Amino acid sequence: TKWVYRFSAGRSEGSAAMRDLLGGKGANLAEMAALGLPVPPGFTITTEVCAHFYANGHAFPKGLEAEVDAAMEEIGRIAGHAFNDPKWPLLVSVRSGARASMPGMMDTVLNLGLNDKTVEALARYSGDARFAWDCYRRFIEMYSSVVLGVEHHIFEEALEEIKEAKGLTLDTQLCADDWRAAVARFKAIVEANAGVSFPQEPRAQLWGAIRAVFASWMNHRAIVYRHLHNIPESWGTAVNVQAMVFGNMDANSATGVAFTRNPSTGVKELYGEYLINAQGEDVVAGLRTPQPLTEVASRASPGEKISLEAAMPKIFAEFTQVADKLERHYRDMQDMEFTVERGKLWMLQTRNGKRTARAALKLAVDMANEGLITREEALLRVEPTSLDQLLHPTIDPAAKRDILATGLPASPGAAFGEIVFNPEEAETLAASGRKVILVRTETSPEDIHGMHAAEGILTARGGMTSHAAVVARGMGKPCVTGAGALRIDYEDQSFTVAGKRFVKGDKLTIDGSAGHVIFGEVKMQRPELTGEFAVLMGWADKIRRLKVRANAETPADARAARRFGAEGIGLARTEHMFFEGERIVAVREMILADDAEGRRAALAKLLPIQREDFKHLFEIMAGLPVTIRLLDPPLHEFLPHNDTELAAVARAMGADPVKLRRRALQLSEFNPMLGFRGVRLAVVFPEIVDMQARAIFEAAIEASLSTGEPARIEIMAPLVFARAELDLVKARIEAMAALVEQETGVRPRFEVGTMIELPRAALRADEIAPSADFFSFGTNDLTQTTLGISRDDAGSFLGAYVEQGVLPHDPFVSIDQEGVGELVALGCQRARAARPDIALGVCGEHGGDPASVAFFETIGIDYVSCSPFRVPIARLAAAQAVL
Ligand code: ADP
Ligand code: MG
Ligand code: MG
Repeated sequence: TKWVYRFSAGRSEGSAAMRDLLGGKGANLAEMAALGLPVPPGFTITTEVCAHFYANGHAFPKGLEAEVDAAMEEIGRIAGHAFNDPKWPLLVSVRSGARASMPGMMDTVLNLGLNDKTVEALARYSGDARFAWDCYRRFIEMYSSVVLGVEHHIFEEALEEIKEAKGLTLDTQLCADDWRAAVARFKAIVEANAGVSFPQEPRAQLWGAIRAVFASWMNHRAIVYRHLHNIPESWGTAVNVQAMVFGNMDANSATGVAFTRNPSTGVKELYGEYLINAQGEDVVAGLRTPQPLTEVASRASPGEKISLEAAMPKIFAEFTQVADKLERHYRDMQDMEFTVERGKLWMLQTRNGKRTARAALKLAVDMANEGLITREEALLRVEPTSLDQLLHPTIDPAAKRDILATGLPASPGAAFGEIVFNPEEAETLAASGRKVILVRTETSPEDIHGMHAAEGILTARGGMTSHAAVVARGMGKPCVTGAGALRIDYEDQSFTVAGKRFVKGDKLTIDGSAGHVIFGEVKMQRPELTGEFAVLMGWADKIRRLKVRANAETPADARAARRFGAEGIGLARTEHMFFEGERIVAVREMILADDAEGRRAALAKLLPIQREDFKHLFEIMAGLPVTIRLLDPPLHEFLPHNDTELAAVARAMGADPVKLRRRALQLSEFNPMLGFRGVRLAVVFPEIVDMQARAIFEAAIEASLSTGEPARIEIMAPLVFARAELDLVKARIEAMAALVEQETGVRPRFEVGTMIELPRAALRADEIAPSADFFSFGTNDLTQTTLGISRDDAGSFLGAYVEQGVLPHDPFVSIDQEGVGELVALGCQRARAARPDIALGVCGEHGGDPASVAFFETIGIDYVSCSPFRVPIARLAAAQAVL
């Protein structure tokens, strides 16, 4: 096996296609080098070594050492110097890099190769002792925390003391001797805390770092990150060793990060930050304020700024070309790291940039319009579930904002919540259903679980590419960074801003699009569904086969469904309309009536209410099908809960409360989900069907008068397991249609179908199909009845099932393809065999889950129906499913 792949400008053994083996960073370094871009020479130790490392008690494979030695020699040849070179010692970085980008989760060591001797050589060679000693202390700091396990803050505190003793505040004010003193002090810290003296031999340093980077694959924050992002542990990380270049050598040196387009908005502009005379992580560390790359960006925000474009015009021009070349080569927005060493540009990293949902949408549409990618590719570039973020609120522009502070608009959208200062607390509060804003001076990878739990993130320090900003954008959470006016006191759990003190629990709104920190709760508004959103949805609609409907019963939901592009209502749950206002009393009357007579009286009260509701639905959905499900109440939800409610029903019915209570007791069930519900109600109390059918037909006639279009009625029986059930219901509906025709002279046109939500119904699909114009697989109930798991009670064990791999995921979120999915597939097949023209739909949560939608595409379902907010997700997922 080959364990090591080399790269240098113009040559590489690897390529971008070898991401699995070389990790993202290594594969792209190889690709950039192969493109002839200025990449410092280096090599990548493969992810297979990582696998071997963990499979063999942290031992390296045989042959690795020789390959690393040979590759180091080649770096030396190309760079013109080697480790310990007395004139100009070679230094390298040792960088982690997994298959999937895990920013900041694992470790990197810079300036490796420095020791008490080489630091002097570097000082002589560079002519700058300050620079050399600064590099050395950075190296000791990083190496000791990454490899020797000395806590980072110990070094930080020592450095603070050194500065304080000299009355200085900034690192940049320290001179060569100060750094020399810092090195001595740091070495003492290492000895005291790690029990070893700082290793002086570069080769030993190298192996220590390689080992530590592989070990960092299993550090806590990397594990948490993998969990959150579904990255398998088996992937492992690669290790990249690369000759150092120095952005901190002098005023002609710099380091920065850049995106080829704005990752927040998607606008086509070079976007990023840099610092003159700085090294690597300085830009994201938030210690100095990074400067904008372009003049446009520099002028757009207030304050004294110097853009790269103005400070180093030639470098800027070259970098712009490189950025352009990379974007065209990868055909996607790139996120790049670069360093300028004494007027020469070096590229250190490129990857497809993380982006907000809004940016993803704009990038995809723009790039397709530019001809960089096809429309099909554009559709695949947007994660369907991320559309959710675009459908969520922003601050109403008309609302008054009591702005406490302004920071950077790091991740768009608005969030409201109570403030908390630590990530654990954010997690606990969020778990108990509270909305929180996580407030930190700056965030670090240890905070991600708290960021995940929070509605939004606010930091006092850091730029647009700080940890908080990058992670929040990835999560789609609103985030404001660098709100410098905040004085945070963790100990006191408070911050002060503009003379006001805020403590834990106080309420704030943040506007991640404007960078505003706002007092209290501000009015939010619904998003616009125009522009790129409409364009991409249009493309999706053109190519998808699956139709998308919405589950809706209220006028508000139905209107939302239409706005989101639903092609009809696939499920209107009539019982959901029963909870409003006084209706519930009439519903209870109907349920508690002890004879058909009493039931008819109650139903007569419900008829006009239902008719009115259905009329609205038919009007809003004019021209589109509306599937109305006959009453399917879990009865217990409707029974009076207490004496007051019971008395109200008794009064309305003119019945005796004592008798009524007895009746209520009779009706209460042990297993309501498997009880007297669904079509069973219609079989036993057919007058309910009569009322509902009448309400539907009369509403349809009225609605068609106002819309000028015939209503498209679909009536659906729930919980059927035999054809005879459906036939009984169908007969009542047909009789009612005839009656309504007699009364009005209008013959209602309608379809009758059934839900398939019991395994027996799926199995007997061929028997049931001849009686049904359509089937709608109710996959929520079908999941419950197939797995024998009640959704309401699954909470206590389902988590463990997923964690231990019994189930790959929550079957109520994404369909269990092997079990429930098999029943759906079988049902479709048998139904079509018996009745080729039958329409087959799916309603339930799975209709809005992209993985489930892809599955439904493969088994030939005709439409899915999901909640209105998921309609755009389903439309895009359906398009992706055919690509
Ligand atoms: P991360 O994945 O956390 O970004 P990197 O391996 O990219 O870690 O390195 C951290 C920082 O050090 C980055 O800013 C990177 O550009 C810089 N860096 C890494 N290797 C070198 C090198 N050989 N020369 C100069 N800077 C480097
Ligand atoms: Mg790092
Ligand atoms: Mg990096």
